[in-house]
Amino acid sequence: MVKLVGAGPGDPELLTIKAVRAIRWASVLLVDDLVGDGVLRFARRSSRIIHVGKRGGCTSTPQSFIEKLMLAEARKGERVVRLKGGDPFVFGRGGEEAQHLREQGIAVEVVHGITSGLAAAGSLGAPLTHRDHAHGVLLVTGHARQGGNGLDWSALATAAAQGLTLVIYMGISGIDALQEGLLQGLPADTPAAVVQHATLPMQKQLTCRLDALAATVRQSDIGSPAIVIVGNVLQAAQHLRLRVSNARAA
Ligand code: SAH
Repeated sequence: MVKLVGAGPGDPELLTIKAVRAIRWASVLLVDDLVGDGVLRFARRSSRIIHVGKRGGCTSTPQSFIEKLMLAEARKGERVVRLKGGDPFVFGRGGEEAQHLREQGIAVEVVHGITSGLAAAGSLGAPLTHRDHAHGVLLVTGHARQGGNGLDWSALATAAAQGLTLVIYMGISGIDALQEGLLQGLPADTPAAVVQHATLPMQKQLTCRLDALAATVRQSDIGSPAIVIVGNVLQAAQHLRLRVSNARAA
């Protein structure tokens, strides 16, 4: 049995009770780099914690290696928890890992977590839907699989113009193309926001118009991991101010 567990956006108080129980249950934890240290405090002292992240310039642990490791530990009889940032089934490769394990005859349990896109909007005081501003939400990745087709931002903008909030994961490195494409279907003054390290003490955020997004990001010290939000719901945010703030939202 392997548990794929969502560690939430960072703040340990945003773990689910099921996630805390799974972390306590584990004898081996394979941890992604977006998982906050605070979350690991719930692990048993005797458990083995293996970091399989890639931040800090190191190359990432290959996905196939992670999958082999999970399998080997589970077959040894270890209680394996694969701990992932946010929700394991939102851009977390949780689907691929679950499929691989099941194909090898290993039972998989998924424990959902609060995905960072929701947490980022919440930390700005912005609802993702609002009867006056948006009747739906699109969760998209700005980072296409290598060799795959990138997103058609202008088509997405046309959809968003019907009244959808865009929540973009991994959008920072392609911010210029993102802005240019979205401007083909959305007004230049559509509100946009970027939230880095949502819910952690080092959270940073900025808000601006869509046509100033890439330049504002460049002038700031905001980088990955961050969520980009585009849509009129940001007008409803209590804290909408056209400046960069290091303050953690109340
Ligand atoms: N499964 C995760 C997403 C993994 S993809 C989830 O549900 O949140 C990795 C991307 O998630 C990052 O590049 C960033 O866009 C986003 N992300 C994860 N944690 C974040 C956080 N605390 N603040 C802002 N963005 C975050």
